[in-house]
Amino acid sequence: MMIKKILPLALFSLGLTLQAQDDFTTQLYASYERFREPSLDQRRIKHAEIQPLIEKFRDNPKFEVNKVGESIEGRSLQLISIGSGTENIFLWSQMHGDEPTATQAIFDILHFLDSPYLQGEKELILSRLKLHFLPMVNPDGAEVFQRRNALGIDVNRDALRLQSPEGRTLKRVRDSLEASFGFNLHDQSRYYNAERTAKPATISYLAAAYNYEKDINEVRAKAMQVIVFMDRIIQNYAPGQVGRYSDGFEPRAFGDNIAKWGTSLILIESGGYADDREKQQIRKLNYVSILSALYTIATGSYREIPVGDYEKIPNNDRKLFDLKIENVTYPLMGKDYILDLGLFLNEADLKGHEDFYYRASLGDQGDLSTFYGYQTFDATGYRIVPPKMVEMDKVADPYGLLRDGVGYVKTELPEGQAFVTYPMNLVHDGFKLRPVVLQPGINPTFFLEREGKLTHALINGFLIDLSKPLEGQGFGNALIYR
Ligand SMILES: [Zn+2]
Repeated sequence: MMIKKILPLALFSLGLTLQAQDDFTTQLYASYERFREPSLDQRRIKHAEIQPLIEKFRDNPKFEVNKVGESIEGRSLQLISIGSGTENIFLWSQMHGDEPTATQAIFDILHFLDSPYLQGEKELILSRLKLHFLPMVNPDGAEVFQRRNALGIDVNRDALRLQSPEGRTLKRVRDSLEASFGFNLHDQSRYYNAERTAKPATISYLAAAYNYEKDINEVRAKAMQVIVFMDRIIQNYAPGQVGRYSDGFEPRAFGDNIAKWGTSLILIESGGYADDREKQQIRKLNYVSILSALYTIATGSYREIPVGDYEKIPNNDRKLFDLKIENVTYPLMGKDYILDLGLFLNEADLKGHEDFYYRASLGDQGDLSTFYGYQTFDATGYRIVPPKMVEMDKVADPYGLLRDGVGYVKTELPEGQAFVTYPMNLVHDGFKLRPVVLQPGINPTFFLEREGKLTHALINGFLIDLSKPLEGQGFGNALIYR
């Protein structure tokens, strides 16, 4: 009898909690701009840029800031803590130097926690939990926008040997906190997709395994439940764009070991999103989903989520290109062939690693019917034709030249420059125009022709529709060949 009475009540109160949670998430999303840290608006952020932000929190009585370590090159690692709860939550970012999205989101989250906005929910979080943020674990890598630290090692393969001061700091902080939950915050390649779909894996999750058997103990189950909760939130804003990371046990990695040491480990990977090279929309999704996760951890409502739902999140796959050209006619040695082409718009860093330019490459060619593109062009009935080269003192009207089938201009090359922002490659005096021979790894320049008329140009991975103005076609840069 008792059970019959209690059950509907319990379900009723759960319904209320879920509604409150949805409202909280919706308001976080809607009010995001108020809390976004404006100085961190592109990915190549450096240690020096986040120091003044951290100093402000040091002067703020709501926060505790403690220097917990130093990188090999002597950059400080600082732990920023807030809350009066007894349950410790540990969040760290950018263990890989070129993975900054969550570092940006952490400062947005800190601004929110500092504000009087949504006070009720915030008080609930901060009275039950104590949050500890360690942003930019690998500042030496961030300085040169590379994955590895100054020792040239992957800090995420140093959890056992602990040779890097960055890894030792991470281990020491984890051990001192005995955190119930750990958020291990990374970026992954923009070329990951949700398995068997053209949708990028904008966010990928993993409840890290703690043994080769991939057993699910209580610690891991809790991570799975919170991940299912976060997945549901992301589905509202980026439907179909969540992937599940492979849970193969990696004995040297931090995530796996932290799970083994008893912390429910949630790995979050920020991937790709269309027209968002600097990942600012993904940063916002980090902000909304992490704060929402903290709320469900504080209320305990995640415990109602079936652990098995974790397996329903699609796997991560890596089948995306920036540009996929389908069914193009490719003439080679007097015969025609039908190919698909997959192109990457790779980034080449400028001096100082504060910005980049594009240097494209052909990733694959042939039957790419199991692959996808951020941009896809059906080139059925289109034929590849080679570019022309002209010689001139000064490049005037580059788009006019391109429309005439010119892909290269032989001219005096500007000093110290690797690229131009108009759609024409510049080449040196000795440059020889060769036939278009496609092989993976090259950066092809060619035109498309249909019924005897030039329709498109491919310049440094950008496909330009010659019948339209250049503006609005998302062109990045062409290259200078010295
Ligand atoms: Zn990473």
